[in-house]
Amino acid sequence: MEGLMMQYPLTTTAILEYGNRAFQHKKVISYLPDGSRHAYSFGDLHKRCKKLANVLTQKLGITKGDMVGTYAWNHYQHLELYYGIPGIGAVCHTINIRLSSQQTEFIINHSEDKVIFVDATLAPLLEKIAAQLETVECYVLINAPEGFSTTLPNTMHYEDLLEGQSEEFEWPSLDENQACGMCYTSGTTGLPKGVLYSHRSTYLHASTVLAPNAANCSNRDVVLLIVPQFHVMAWGFPYMCVLTGADMVMPSLHLQPEAIIDMLQKEKITKANGVPTIWLGVYEAMKKNPPKEKLALQEYLVGGSALPASLIDGFERDFGIRGVHAWGMTETSPLGTVSRLQRKHAQLGQKEQLEIRAKQGTEFPGIEMRIVMDDGSIAPRDGKTMGELQVKGAWVLHSYFKTHNQENFTKDGWFRTGDVSTIDADGYMQITDRTKDLIKSGGEWISSVALESALMSHPRIKEAAVIAIPDATWSERPLASVVLADKNETVTPKELMEFLGRDFAKYQIPDQYVFLGEVPKTSVGKFNKKEIRRLYAEGKLT
Ligand code: ADP
Repeated sequence: MEGLMMQYPLTTTAILEYGNRAFQHKKVISYLPDGSRHAYSFGDLHKRCKKLANVLTQKLGITKGDMVGTYAWNHYQHLELYYGIPGIGAVCHTINIRLSSQQTEFIINHSEDKVIFVDATLAPLLEKIAAQLETVECYVLINAPEGFSTTLPNTMHYEDLLEGQSEEFEWPSLDENQACGMCYTSGTTGLPKGVLYSHRSTYLHASTVLAPNAANCSNRDVVLLIVPQFHVMAWGFPYMCVLTGADMVMPSLHLQPEAIIDMLQKEKITKANGVPTIWLGVYEAMKKNPPKEKLALQEYLVGGSALPASLIDGFERDFGIRGVHAWGMTETSPLGTVSRLQRKHAQLGQKEQLEIRAKQGTEFPGIEMRIVMDDGSIAPRDGKTMGELQVKGAWVLHSYFKTHNQENFTKDGWFRTGDVSTIDADGYMQITDRTKDLIKSGGEWISSVALESALMSHPRIKEAAVIAIPDATWSERPLASVVLADKNETVTPKELMEFLGRDFAKYQIPDQYVFLGEVPKTSVGKFNKKEIRRLYAEGKLT
């Protein structure tokens, strides 16, 4: 028997309209590329999204199902694109500004973007490849100063287009399963692949992520969106904040630790997101120059790569700010798990609590996960047995955009993440590695992530990335590349081996160490192990 409830499509427009009805006075604050501060309300956002919808449909000829690219920082105009484009039934394709020219060209041609909205500061990056972009009819410049010139063809200005447009627009009714956004994987493991989000998946993801077990955001929060809007929809925060009525602060290109600390102070930010590299930088800067007044920041949600226990511990001990560890992928919208302590953990000691919080955590409602071993059987939830992490759920993709490759999916409908993990009896998942980053030495697996976390807890080490290198006897051995916290200090391989000896078996401890000025990073700030392996193979890592 069918239920007798209304069909109410879960769309991004429903989020925008709700935000306007329930939280019209809430604020969106942007620190624009030129350093100026812009503030307006959810009510203003709503009006401008309607103006934008008029521009898209009447001036730019965008129709349902068209791809519209954005190549922009985090700010209010990008937020308007997040609602205006899907609102008319088109797809908001956020292009990662940190990819190589070659990858960017591939992505734009592959997705068939018709128009690209580009921040003026980023226009030079697109100029280099514009001649090769086959489908782009025009470029709309955002935040272009007076007299700005570019070689991009067919350019218009965002504000000129919106100027004088009507604030009336009747949103078309949309099927919630229609596409609303697209993001390509950053290509850490091969050519970027397109992930096409639906209105429904985006709505469900946002409404789950705001919950207390997850990002824990409400209409009493001021949220700093550090995760770029060009990467996995800023973890859904631009939708989540409107849905929960949290004020939003958008930093555009002001991502240096000092700029972030300044925003945390001035805007009385209570929650924020970001990859570990960002928070490591903020922590180091705060230690050197502690803020005079206690920050309003209560928690920062971290994912993208493992959050070292030492960082969780340091931030909380020194500044009373909680790090909350989450895991996800472009393919999972992205948030899949989050690690929070439960009531029964209160009696544990601090070290045990930290161990749990440094795990990637339990799955969100709406997501299921399992660990599959090499022989195809499901691993027990014992916190020890490793295997491939597979997930399914309401915001997990079932195929990539325009590819029929099914190797990432199992016959029984699970997505193969490529991460190697364990799940413990309480349901906390822990990533041991990516499949190709695991080190197999003498037939035994060694986790590079565990070694990195341990090395980064050493007081004189800032960053550590561990890769497998070929070895005649053991087939592979770990090599640690480390960055010192202070260039004037030293630490010897012997000291590091002794340090690791406290937690690791002898065979797991790297015997080779290289000291770098900086660990190469990917477009989204993760350790770029592909690059480290390449440097090693070319003999440039000594
Ligand atoms: P790409 O796959 O292109 O690097 P993603 O941002 O989608 O881009 O990366 C997803 C991957 O990042 C995951 O499969 C996992 O390996 C890693 N990852 C994400 N969050 C965490 C985390 N909290 N701890 C460890 N690894 C993580």
